[in-house]
Amino acid sequence: MQPLVDQPFTIIQPGSKWRNRTHFGTQYAAILVDANYQPPSSVDSLPSPGHGVVAVAMVNGRPEFWQTWWFLLAATLASAGIVAAYFLQRIVLLAGAERRFREAIETMPAMAFVTRPDGYCTFVNRRWVEFTGLTLEQTSESGWQAAVHPDDLGRVVNKWRASLALGEPLEYEVRLHRAADETFRCFLMRAVPLRDNRGKVLKWCGAATDIEDRKQAEQLRADLAHVSRVSTMGELVASITHELLQPISATTLNGQVALRWLQRDPPDIANASQSVSAIVQDGNRAATIIERLRLLYKKVPPRREPVAVNSVIAEMVELLRSEANGHAVSIRTDLEDDLPAAMVDQVQLRQVLMNLLLNAIEAMSDTGGVLTVKSESGAQDVIQISVIDTGPGLPPGKDDQIFQAFFTTKMQGSGMGLAISKSIIESHHGRIWANGNEGRGATFHFTLPLAGQEDERPVGS
Ligand code: ADP
Repeated sequence: MQPLVDQPFTIIQPGSKWRNRTHFGTQYAAILVDANYQPPSSVDSLPSPGHGVVAVAMVNGRPEFWQTWWFLLAATLASAGIVAAYFLQRIVLLAGAERRFREAIETMPAMAFVTRPDGYCTFVNRRWVEFTGLTLEQTSESGWQAAVHPDDLGRVVNKWRASLALGEPLEYEVRLHRAADETFRCFLMRAVPLRDNRGKVLKWCGAATDIEDRKQAEQLRADLAHVSRVSTMGELVASITHELLQPISATTLNGQVALRWLQRDPPDIANASQSVSAIVQDGNRAATIIERLRLLYKKVPPRREPVAVNSVIAEMVELLRSEANGHAVSIRTDLEDDLPAAMVDQVQLRQVLMNLLLNAIEAMSDTGGVLTVKSESGAQDVIQISVIDTGPGLPPGKDDQIFQAFFTTKMQGSGMGLAISKSIIESHHGRIWANGNEGRGATFHFTLPLAGQEDERPVGS
């Protein structure tokens, strides 16, 4: 007889013991069979008495352990515990993320705020509170307006109104009141709307960055540029007047001489021609001076290009030679042969050389002396230019102040020449400095970067 395996009842042969047992809930079917029993082909239902089945009875059996109430309870508790632990972990992670986010918002070097779609403030960071002295409560509604400079308020309110109505990001500059010292500082304010999936504005997030220092630097640069043009122009006028007067008076003189040769009877054409040639030469000289002047003050945007520095030095020395002669100053050059090209704006380089040369000539104007301009390849891929004089030397104890704007020891000085030179050289990533000489006088050095490309042809050569 085949055992009915995997069936929810138990088969018992006459007089035999349990032969097979499978579970059926907590009940078991016990079937008593005799010798006529034939195992059914299908076991979908319990066999009924007859055809070898003597009796069928349902008996209670001991359930498997996983069916016991304590196991089911433990399993339920364990599952609930795992789910709870998962959610707890998520909550802890989220809380950590929020704490880090809040720390970042609180410590960022800007003021941050959040408003409702109607502009009502619901969050301000610590920086806002510290700077303006206004708490969140004091900032809400229209309280924030107390921090805005009265002259900026109308413009700012209008900007907010327009952006809230249109839902467009806004950006503006505004002066905000600093509670600590009762001053105003300029800020760049930016706010953007945060929207849901359907594009509805949920809130506005904004930040204000302090741009006061940048603003002041911009203003100073603009002032410097202005003063630079005015002061250097003034210094130059004297030199140029002298430079131009020479060829012009020579022209007048030669013209008179030529006239006299021509008025002779018979006219002396040969001598008259010589005088006229001299007039042409002087005319060309004057035109060259004017052309140089035009180049020097041409208003062109800075243009960095490979420049043959020695040529520019020679040009500036020529331009100022008569000015130097007028003060018994002789100019010498000590220029390195085959000096590589520098990457520099030529007009600005002329301006720096002009400032340093005029300073040196001025320093020696009472005593006379020697002005040497030197060029050499410096260490670290730079060109170094030095302007050396034999004047009285740097003002004692003021070496570090001479490059500051408005520092001057001259009656008519503007104190801008060195400050402008410094800003030009530093904008070229170069360095400018000064030192006293061993013997007499002072030396001003500055460096310029080499032109990177070997094949770039230098201009001015
Ligand atoms: P300014 O010439 O209008 O005074 P600068 O910026 O050119 O302004 O120079 C600032 C100061 O640096 C000068 O007033 C002077 O005291 C000092 N200085 C500049 N060049 C020399 C120099 N070659 N020798 C001595 N002192 C100098």
